[in-house]
Amino acid sequence: MPAISPNKPYRIGRSRTGLGLFATKPIKKGTKIVRYFGPLLDSRKKKDDAIENKYLFELNNRWTIDGSVRENIARYINHACKPNAESDVRPRKRKVFIRAIKNIEPGEEISYDYGTDYFKAYLKPIGCKCAACEKKRRKKRAEARAERARLRAKEERKARRKAEKLAKEREKAKQKAQEKAKDETREAVKGLNGKSKYANAQYLNGQDREAA
Ligand SMILES: [Zn+2]
Repeated sequence: MPAISPNKPYRIGRSRTGLGLFATKPIKKGTKIVRYFGPLLDSRKKKDDAIENKYLFELNNRWTIDGSVRENIARYINHACKPNAESDVRPRKRKVFIRAIKNIEPGEEISYDYGTDYFKAYLKPIGCKCAACEKKRRKKRAEARAERARLRAKEERKARRKAEKLAKEREKAKQKAQEKAKDETREAVKGLNGKSKYANAQYLNGQDREAA
């Protein structure tokens, strides 16, 4: 790793995607933090135009900075969709500075938006890992979880209602069966009473007959 003077308000450190540049001192909004530098490539030269790496910083149609050199500390700055710095491009001077667009506190990772072309080419295929995108992903996952829980609860309510309905129907059928059984017993008792009365009558009749 390239050495950084302790006077500088940043250091290279571990970030969620590998290495990153972190503030070691408060950095005021608007401050130039570090220059993004490297050899200038001329698109009119075949040899220059053939160079391809992730650290190319296009100034205009003609000039591109090849920031892949080791001494270019700014290349450690990661992309963020909601960054705390920006690239301040001076095409005529052929210079790029990374400038704070927010007050940055010590310990905070310094980031800037790499732009749409870089995003589409390098970040979109693997998924942007910046804090804002991670937060969005976490939120989406939480929402999906909540939705699954909601559907599950709905299914459970439905199943409970069905079970309750079934239990009620069974209870009703049981009551009906009991009523029917009671009615049948009543009928049977009535029948028996009638028969015994009849038997008594016969008996009495017999007695009568005997008496006569
Ligand atoms: Zn992002």
